[in-house]
Amino acid sequence: MLAVGDNRRHGGNGGYDDLPSEHYSWDSAVPNHGKPAIGDVMAVWDKKSLLGISVIEDIETDKRKKDVYSCPNPVCGKSDFQPRKTLRPKYVCLKCGHKFDERVPGTKDVITYRSRHAAAWVDMPGVLTGDEVRELCDKPKTQHSIRSMRWEKLRDAIAATGAPTTIDIADSAQRAISGGHKRVTVRARVGQAAFRLQLLKAQGELCAFTGPQPAAVLEAAHLYSYAATGEHHDSGGLLLRRDIHRLFDLGLIAVHPKTTTLDVAPQLAGYPLYASLHGAEPSVRIRPKHRPWLQAHWALHRES
Ligand SMILES: [Zn+2]
Repeated sequence: MLAVGDNRRHGGNGGYDDLPSEHYSWDSAVPNHGKPAIGDVMAVWDKKSLLGISVIEDIETDKRKKDVYSCPNPVCGKSDFQPRKTLRPKYVCLKCGHKFDERVPGTKDVITYRSRHAAAWVDMPGVLTGDEVRELCDKPKTQHSIRSMRWEKLRDAIAATGAPTTIDIADSAQRAISGGHKRVTVRARVGQAAFRLQLLKAQGELCAFTGPQPAAVLEAAHLYSYAATGEHHDSGGLLLRRDIHRLFDLGLIAVHPKTTTLDVAPQLAGYPLYASLHGAEPSVRIRPKHRPWLQAHWALHRES
């Protein structure tokens, strides 16, 4: 799924409210709109590179009137054009070649779709280039925002880069969702924002690994993403500074299950800021309830 780029903000519509790590929106005016299904692995990219992968937990549908703009050529009327950066007239219709400055406004009834996929999301910025993602699609030359792809091919390609990633999460989440644990969706419904606020209230402006940090850089890490049990757990989260959260998701920073001290992977040895965390005590008390999740995280990243 293409998260940003010309296709998502073309002349014919006003764009979508994507948040790549949590939800992806589209509507019935988009080719392949009916294809994505609950339990599917999804990859989000931005044309330049892969952004991340996840598993679709839920797809909400609704109906609405959509603002559309069309080509003023009376025998055309299509919405297949993009604003030109410098050339004038501003638009050129890709269907009929007509050039114009004023689009014809109108509305159209569409079904809207919104995927929820926060629980199994794994950030993978730059792990594959845009060209590599394109080549992995069933139809590499397609221009559509929603494209079909074989998960096995994508998984192999990610693994082949040697990047420290957590593709297993997609597999385990997919098993949980397609195996009838549909309640995995509960995680997403609790809401990232609400969960973060809850943690901020409980822990204050404190990164669990690096100490006091302004709220603006603190994120909620869902520990329970690491075991696909399909239940929400109040004690299943830690506030982490953004960069630390990313490294934690990649397994480069973990909590040692025996000593409950921070464990920084050898790949980070060359980065003093992160390397200095190795062996340190977390800045919040690791509660007994946190342990099973941290253990699952450790098992996933360090014992495989
Ligand atoms: Zn036209």
